[in-house]
Amino acid sequence: MGAHPTKKVTRSQGGNKFTAYRLDKINPASCPECGAAKLLHRACPKCGLYNGRYTARKLKENSQEINEQSE
Ligand SMILES: [Zn+2]
Repeated sequence: MGAHPTKKVTRSQGGNKFTAYRLDKINPASCPECGAAKLLHRACPKCGLYNGRYTARKLKENSQEINEQSE
């Protein structure tokens, strides 16, 4: 005989098992620069500001925009 449950798991016990697997609520903060909703400890998705500095990726995008404007 293989592995077997030692005791019956009632309907409510079985349901309670899955309450641990719920999604956490996100706690959005607002960007001090543009005011857009952003996640804590993440760069702003709109302007790329993080800890008072602009991220490298956003700087690159901004430079491309400047190039497009000059053409
Ligand atoms: Zn921003």
